[in-house]
Amino acid sequence: MQFSELPLQKSILKAVAEARFQRPTLVQQKTIPLVLEQKNVIVAAQTGTGKTAAFALPIINLLLDKQDAEKGAKTIKIVVVTPTRELALQILDNFKSYSKYTNLRTTAVFGGVALEPQKEILAKGVDILVATPGRLIDLQIQGNIDLSHLEIFVLDEADLMLDMGFINDIKKIEKLTPRKKQTLLFSATIPDKIDELAKSVIKNAVKVEINPEETTAKNIGQLLYYLPKKHKTDLCLHLLRNTIHGKIIIFRRTKFGVDKLEQTLLKNGYQVTSIHGDKTQGVRNKAIEDFKSKKATLLIATDVAARGIDITNVDAIINFDIPNVPETYVHRIGRTGRAGKSGIAFSFCSPDENDYIKTIETLIEKPIKVIDNHPYPIHKPKHKKKQPNTISKHKKGRKSEASKKKKKRWY
Ligand code: ADP
Ligand code: MG
Repeated sequence: MQFSELPLQKSILKAVAEARFQRPTLVQQKTIPLVLEQKNVIVAAQTGTGKTAAFALPIINLLLDKQDAEKGAKTIKIVVVTPTRELALQILDNFKSYSKYTNLRTTAVFGGVALEPQKEILAKGVDILVATPGRLIDLQIQGNIDLSHLEIFVLDEADLMLDMGFINDIKKIEKLTPRKKQTLLFSATIPDKIDELAKSVIKNAVKVEINPEETTAKNIGQLLYYLPKKHKTDLCLHLLRNTIHGKIIIFRRTKFGVDKLEQTLLKNGYQVTSIHGDKTQGVRNKAIEDFKSKKATLLIATDVAARGIDITNVDAIINFDIPNVPETYVHRIGRTGRAGKSGIAFSFCSPDENDYIKTIETLIEKPIKVIDNHPYPIHKPKHKKKQPNTISKHKKGRKSEASKKKKKRWY
């Protein structure tokens, strides 16, 4: 996904392009649309995944949408509460750079420095205020901050705020805000304490959780086989006989594909089970149980059926079909190599799937290792080696030209 596919105003997209972000991170892809829909959202994603822009970009957009109607109002519309001065400055910096082509006013207040300069800035009017809890309460008591017209309340680094003992301050601040508002909570982890806080300050929140294995796949070996579609079943049998052992999940794009492969593997004597959307919940549960207890060592699944099912200790996964959404590839391979164990992912790519591999390699920012020594004809795209980095500079026009040419060559 590209930033331009998100419903953000041009002035924001321009600023994002200047920040040299190539594409939204997973947490940004999931969170930005929800914030734009004015949902209450609780987000858990590890440090460094880009949570700040996940709230800053849509917040700026929401403010721009309303700006004309409320020109010049001096009330604070957005408050971002964060535990430390450093974080407050960092968030301020982010807001300033993403809103540089707008006239939104942003400032930060935090303890440890004089109150007067902060009061002066507040008196001129601020749209977005970033604050540490203690200083926010001080300024409110002294009459410099009015939160009664607040529209969006953001709690950033919530787990850290709780560890630092700010829970009562947060509850106090929340009471100063109107009941009708949007609340967003960001955290690296969601311990029970956060759940408790969330219950008291956020109603009806949508949860976004990004597991570490969705963003990294360090200990997962990734191997790629180029071959014609009609030989995929043979390659699968070949690998099961000679190369892959243990508990294996085979992913297919369609229900029909799952059923067909299951029949073939059963005929070949494998203990196999399967899940897809046309099977009843009972049948699917039984399949998962059989796989977990190793009654069946092979599980064939569609992506939708496998979502959210906690199956660990998988030795390998096979991408029998290459997913057309690159994030799906990352989800799939994240099923192996969990909890520090190593795992391996085999991908079978037929000529019509070459473009999917290209977008996957762009997402994971590295080429997948190609295995040539298999017994089937090889359909490797030409110029393969250049691919992962070609898209970076002159993007769109060129990219589509290139893929058109590629299509001619491969169909
Ligand atoms: P978090 O709050 O999740 O710990 P930050 O919002 O501080 O993460 O972002 C971490 C770093 O990633 C920052 O340097 C930020 O500029 C950068 N960053 C954010 N979004 C993107 C993106 N889409 N592409 C590249 N870098 C990004
Ligand atoms: Mg952060």
